Amino acid sequence: MKNAASTPINIIWYKRDLRTTDHEPLCHAQDEGLPLLAVYFMEPSVMNHPDSDPRHWRFAWQSFQALNSKISAAGGRVYLFHREAEPVLEILREHFTIKTVFSSQETGNSLTFRRDLRMAKWFQQRGIIWREFQNNGVIRGLNNRKNWDERWHAYMNDKTRNADLHRIRWVHLDDALYHSLQGEPLPEVITRQDASFQPGGEDWAWKYLEDFIRYRHIHYTRHISKPEKSRRSCSRLSPYLAYGNISLRSVYQYTLQNMEGARNKSALSNFISRLHWHCHFIQKFESECRYEHENINRAYDALSKEFNEAYYHAWLHGKTGIPIVDACMRCLRATGYVNFRMRAMVVSFAVYNLWLDWRHIAQPLARLFLDYEPGIHYPQLQMQSGTTGVNTLRIYNPVKNSEQHDPDGEFIKKWVPELAFVPGKLIHEPHRMSFLEQRMYNCIVGKDYPAPIVSVEETRKRAADIMWAFKKKAEVKEEGKRILARHVRPRDGSVTGA
Ligand SMILES: Cc1cc2nc3c(=O)[nH]c(=O)nc-3n(C[C@H](O)[C@H](O)[C@H](O)COP(=O)(O)OP(=O)(O)OC[C@H]3O[C@@H](n4cnc5c(N)ncnc54)[C@H](O)[C@@H]3O)c2cc1C
Repeated sequence: MKNAASTPINIIWYKRDLRTTDHEPLCHAQDEGLPLLAVYFMEPSVMNHPDSDPRHWRFAWQSFQALNSKISAAGGRVYLFHREAEPVLEILREHFTIKTVFSSQETGNSLTFRRDLRMAKWFQQRGIIWREFQNNGVIRGLNNRKNWDERWHAYMNDKTRNADLHRIRWVHLDDALYHSLQGEPLPEVITRQDASFQPGGEDWAWKYLEDFIRYRHIHYTRHISKPEKSRRSCSRLSPYLAYGNISLRSVYQYTLQNMEGARNKSALSNFISRLHWHCHFIQKFESECRYEHENINRAYDALSKEFNEAYYHAWLHGKTGIPIVDACMRCLRATGYVNFRMRAMVVSFAVYNLWLDWRHIAQPLARLFLDYEPGIHYPQLQMQSGTTGVNTLRIYNPVKNSEQHDPDGEFIKKWVPELAFVPGKLIHEPHRMSFLEQRMYNCIVGKDYPAPIVSVEETRKRAADIMWAFKKKAEVKEEGKRILARHVRPRDGSVTGA
């Protein structure tokens, strides 16, 4: 239908749920039966925030296009606005009587959180109902984790919610109105394809899932920490989950349905436990969004770290002289992905060896991760940086990790071509090569490739001494109790794990 003044309609506001399957807001919008206008906003304020990168918006753009083509096939259209939500909705209100806006709950950064608070008020003042639905296993408004696991399982085992797109009466905007509202064209860096990154869209999400369950999961557990092999044997579903191209419930149920005939059942059980972690971490952030900007354990405010710009730049651009760290940072820049172990290791190197504050590396890493998900990113970052006071302190030795997980330097050689001719057993610490070896393998340390900017051993020891002393402080323990009470499931009256 075309718009006409005061026509009553509902709106579906797509956010980080760019899919058609297992979509609760869409099902409810369909059941209400009013004509439905589908909108998606790429808000300049969010796009220009320091945690944001064109790679994210390219993925979102591809996801939007895929969604729009499915909805178009059912006679509808999703309208993309490269503008802030509020002014667009204000004008749409002049053309329609908006009854209800449907969306999925978003556990975003502080900017989108504040935007949502403003919008809730805006809708309320205008008599518009805003119905937000639970997204994945994350529950809004919790003060503790009592029964959280049970609720997570109940949600994951519940039936998926699939709307019939053909039954919806889609609203089509008048062309002139849409043109006046849609905003500036998106920059080419977003609309052009880039084959170095995973492509966005619902069909791709399902392809990655099916391929993983059918073939790639076999070595999931064995290769999970290997920087090169994990690229194939991990599911690589994270960007699809971050942009909601597939629901976590669909992934969970599809995995269980195929468990019986799977070639490696225990690998799939491990995978399922990661799906649980996904929501466990986002739940922390949903319940305490201070994770983004403040030490979650306030006692760590007394930890003193001075910003060293030279170290920061060397780390960010992969020029620290520690090959595995440099390979990871360069690979992230080029592809948006490294596995969990390598993420933890580059964080550990930055916050312990280089003694950088986690807040200095949080947004730069967010920009590099294609799958940037604030609810996982910030709690993981603080956990790896030792500022929770309740997790085991993990200071990764990058050289040992390199020897163990990239023994022949296959990954390093790919991303640090300066070391292409260095043999596997020397590649983990090229500065230890004799001058003759350096000449023989075409890599003069200090000229072709940097010498280590810090001594891994000395800086590791210094950081360990400080961090262990901190962990023993009464203030850290006191805050730790508060954190456990809020974010960990009580077991038999006590709290364990984090
Ligand atoms: C400092 C740091 C920052 C991180 N930031 C993000 C982020 O912004 N977005 C993000 O999706 N993941 C983040 N992770 C978690 C993890 O590294 C990625 O989820 C995982 O590497 C994605 O690859 P995959 O999809 O192949 O994972 P698989 O191993 O195939 O796991 C399947 C899914 O389970 C979830 N998952 C797996 N591992 C974890 C974990 N350790 N914690 C929480 N959920 C997990 C993810 O949704 C993942 O897609 C971060 C980890 C660290 C150490």
